[in-house]
Amino acid sequence: MKQGKLIIFSAPSGAGKTTIVKHLLKKFSNLSFSVSATTRESRGDEKNKKDYYFITKEDFLHRVARQEFVEFEEVYNGTFYGTLRSEIERIWNDDKQVIFDIDVEGGLRLKRKYEQDALAIFVQPPSLDVLKERLSGRGTDSPEKLQERFVKAEKELEYADKFDVILKNNDLSTACKEAEELIGKFLGNS
Ligand code: 5GP
Repeated sequence: MKQGKLIIFSAPSGAGKTTIVKHLLKKFSNLSFSVSATTRESRGDEKNKKDYYFITKEDFLHRVARQEFVEFEEVYNGTFYGTLRSEIERIWNDDKQVIFDIDVEGGLRLKRKYEQDALAIFVQPPSLDVLKERLSGRGTDSPEKLQERFVKAEKELEYADKFDVILKNNDLSTACKEAEELIGKFLGNS
């Protein structure tokens, strides 16, 4: 199997990492998104196999037992997310590098596993209040789900300094530009 590089974007949800990752995918044709498996319901216009592999909890737990995940996490109570080994292999075998949008603990786990081959970037929102506003503004989560996301976000902000780089997202276009430079350097193509 071929071995390539991994670019890990982690942050509390609502910090803007998904937008930054999408921007990078447009800029770098040699990057490919690691589609995670999850047991949550699809949201808005999310598509199966493109945004996530939406699978049942039963299927997820079978895959855990068969050791199909490089890492997995019960990110929210009863809701699992995980990176399939087959996903990373598929991308490397296609001569591309993998980019992840993943929670903070999962991101650090991947960094510990792949060390120098991985660049772990923490996207830092301007403040917890801004993060809360962004999450509420999505209008896609119930009040209970939102509360759960707030509590987790607060905890996740404490992990920032364990990452290779902290990318401040006070202004999205500036953050996207900075991310481009970081990735260009890491991949050696700028
Ligand atoms: P959302 O439900 O908003 O799509 O994702 C919730 C959180 O789970 C986000 O922080 C997202 O980055 C994270 N996440 C997505 N895929 C994975 C994964 O494969 N593993 C882990 N550990 N977290 C993930």
